[in-house]
Amino acid sequence: MMAAYGGVMASVRSRRLVVIGAGVLGAAVAARLASAGTQVTLLDRDQPGRGASRWSFAWLNSNDKAPRRYHDLNHAGIRAWAELAPDLDGHAWYRPVGHLELATSVAGRAELQARVRRLTEWGYPARLIDPAEAAEIEPALRFPESGGAVAWFPGEGYVLTEPLIARLVARAASHGADVLTGEQGRVTGLDPGPGETLRVRTAAGAVLEADEVVCCAGRWVPELATMAGAACPVPLVDWDRPGATAPGLVVRVGPLASAGPVHLVHTPEVSLRPHSGGLLHLEAPDAAVDLHTPEPDLRRWAAALLRRAQQTVRGLIDARVEEFQVCVRPMPADGQSIVGRLPGAPGLYVAVTHSGVTLAAHLSRLIAAELTTGTAPAGTAPAGLAPYRPARFLTSPSPPASPPPSR
Ligand SMILES: Cc1cc2nc3c(=O)[nH]c(=O)nc-3n(C[C@H](O)[C@H](O)[C@H](O)COP(=O)(O)OP(=O)(O)OC[C@H]3O[C@@H](n4cnc5c(N)ncnc54)[C@H](O)[C@@H]3O)c2cc1C
Repeated sequence: MMAAYGGVMASVRSRRLVVIGAGVLGAAVAARLASAGTQVTLLDRDQPGRGASRWSFAWLNSNDKAPRRYHDLNHAGIRAWAELAPDLDGHAWYRPVGHLELATSVAGRAELQARVRRLTEWGYPARLIDPAEAAEIEPALRFPESGGAVAWFPGEGYVLTEPLIARLVARAASHGADVLTGEQGRVTGLDPGPGETLRVRTAAGAVLEADEVVCCAGRWVPELATMAGAACPVPLVDWDRPGATAPGLVVRVGPLASAGPVHLVHTPEVSLRPHSGGLLHLEAPDAAVDLHTPEPDLRRWAAALLRRAQQTVRGLIDARVEEFQVCVRPMPADGQSIVGRLPGAPGLYVAVTHSGVTLAAHLSRLIAAELTTGTAPAGTAPAGLAPYRPARFLTSPSPPASPPPSR
């Protein structure tokens, strides 16, 4: 029997899989596995979708990803959401609206032009447009009449992660997955069971026997890998010390006096997109905050981002900051996804990545196929997940010196 979702063959009901973490990645993996007929338990110590996924810019893109194979992986991620949306109430969360990017400095314009050239050569929808066309596409924005370069990426968009994750979790549950949250879902131990199995201990005192555990716990994956006694590191860019670069500031502002922007927009000063409830979601790469930044400094940054948006977006003059949050990108040390069975920890499969929103629909399809059939789904890249295995860090465990990419 072919599963209705994901194209993975059923007949795997006897394997017991536990997925840890109900962010966008874990929820998508659980939905794919359950739809394929696997017996799945999805665990989260919070309500689903309250980790990085909740505050993500959630831009679906492969706009500046290297090397080429990682670009292709992200491009496949964008297409995978387009395939899923019609079957998963996409109207509630899927926004394939396109993306406008403005560059004003000489260096910024040159970089944008070179990027558009490269992406076009790679078959990715991208073109430079003049300010008049940009104003037609997005009347809510003020573009400089001269001296700027504007690029249009019509294949990009964003998702609203909260309604999306709710639907992924509901999809998993409707195919028989058990979903446990709070203390019942908080994993406190991963101990070896018979053979290659794992015993998952929860804060509520339960012990779940699992043939395989898929750990999608975002920035907490290394902590859980350590619980399982893994010999192989899962190195992430530092996120908890002062000055760490993985945290970012998210600011949500409103209300808008007139019709607001409908596209995703990057200017040199601010990145923005519409959010639910008539709000705009704002970020800026130069907002230097971390988990230790004092509240008054966060408020000052939030006000600064609102001022920048007011200069760019019409109708924001009476807007105020509705919410702001420092949130952490789960960022692998070399910038690329870490996906696969963890050497030295039998029964433990890990999946942690930046750009997890872009990648979740596609990665979850690859992961579910690997765990259920042992093969890559038809039509996916021949290398599949091979370049992203955790074992690459057995030979080069050191984190990069450069800050994490912002895209
Ligand atoms: C500011 C910001 C902007 C971003 N912008 C983009 C973007 O534009 N496009 C894009 O594609 N990506 C973007 N990202 C990255 C993207 O949001 C993440 O890669 C993605 O959300 C990760 O999802 P996840 O499911 O792996 O992790 P998370 O959403 O963090 O979920 C992990 C879950 O694990 C649970 N958990 C942890 N420990 C335990 C435990 N012991 N027991 C049980 N449960 C546990 C947590 O409660 C959490 O729910 C951005 C991230 C940030 C922070």
